[in-house]
Amino acid sequence: MNLLEALNYRNNCLICQQPMELKCPELLTFNVVLVSKGLMLVGKARKFDLLFNFDGTCQITPRAISSYFCPLKVVKECPTCCQQKITERMNMTTVQNLKTMRCAYGISITSTENNFTTTIDRETIKYHDSISFYHVNTSVGQYSKYEDDTPNELQTELLHGRFEDKLDQLSKLYIPYLNISKIKDVNQLITKIKLLTVMS
Ligand SMILES: [Zn+2]
Repeated sequence: MNLLEALNYRNNCLICQQPMELKCPELLTFNVVLVSKGLMLVGKARKFDLLFNFDGTCQITPRAISSYFCPLKVVKECPTCCQQKITERMNMTTVQNLKTMRCAYGISITSTENNFTTTIDRETIKYHDSISFYHVNTSVGQYSKYEDDTPNELQTELLHGRFEDKLDQLSKLYIPYLNISKIKDVNQLITKIKLLTVMS
């Protein structure tokens, strides 16, 4: 998978359809900026410190090397839905913890001196309405490496239930791999999860 494909894997939040945003959790003081030739991480001096070009070449300034992690983890997420993550960190009961919204996926950029490769790590979708919740946590990463084959070692975790259910009534299901790249909205997601958890 090249960088452009990884960045375009999902552009709009599956839940609210707003444009997703890029950030780099390990380099929070850097801004992640998309430019015509690639992805730039801009440090305090407002000049690029890391530049990953769409042609597969990269430039890392000497001063960025000390703060640079390899592989570099870039997260693309919906800023609106992911805001609720703040409450996730609070001391909450499990059921309250299920009341979160999230649409995000991670990109790993592994660089050698002047070149780099890109993979998608995981995609996490968490959605709930007033009655039920639907969570999907899937490895989307290596599927491009395996073409259309389903790699057995990759797993998708599905969690579905109603808030009024007891914990042992929740559907938690591990399936080898679920390609959710074509799922674009909540209704499609709910249909898919219901189908899979009912069949289990
Ligand atoms: Zn959203």
